[in-house]
Amino acid sequence: MAELIAVQGDITTMRVDAIVNAANTSLLGGGGVDGAIHRAAGPELLAECRKLGGCETGNGKATPGFHLPAKWVFHVVGPVWQGGGHDEDDLLSNCYQRCLELAKAHHVRSIAFPAISTGIYQFPPKRAARIAIDTVREHVDASDVEVVRFVCFDRETLEIYEHILEEPPRVPIG
Ligand code: ADP
Repeated sequence: MAELIAVQGDITTMRVDAIVNAANTSLLGGGGVDGAIHRAAGPELLAECRKLGGCETGNGKATPGFHLPAKWVFHVVGPVWQGGGHDEDDLLSNCYQRCLELAKAHHVRSIAFPAISTGIYQFPPKRAARIAIDTVREHVDASDVEVVRFVCFDRETLEIYEHILEEPPRVPIG
């Protein structure tokens, strides 16, 4: 089982093989973590993203990290929260699962995730953290990832992640 840890900080500074970007469907940059990643990676990242032709919600695409310490950026599009009745949970889970597939394809051993959809897209933070951790726990062993960092921008998010990570993993019944 890979090591799952929560840290507080700026994802653009993480020295890992891949960082995950909470992008939008255009993949052409935006606010929040997306803007921070584009600023830190340099204009080469936008030029590369222009070649990708966008991305649908729940899916993701990889680019190099350019000037970032991370070798790769996995750009995923989380769902916009619309009250919970629009498949938001599954779409968010798909983002984490997709990143682990990209990790496997790119031989990534360490990966850092932001709290996808919990900023501008307004997904409830506790519900999002539970989905993030459950999905990664379920799928990480199918990849070569050994270290997963959940990068929390603020103290409240860090506390949510730490609380969930301390609980013993749920064992499926039957
Ligand atoms: P979304 O549109 O998917 O909601 P946001 O970028 O608005 O994406 O927010 C996603 C999460 O990323 C939020 O919890 C926000 O606080 C956090 N965040 C913003 N900037 C950074 C950063 N530089 N490093 C890590 N997390 C960040």
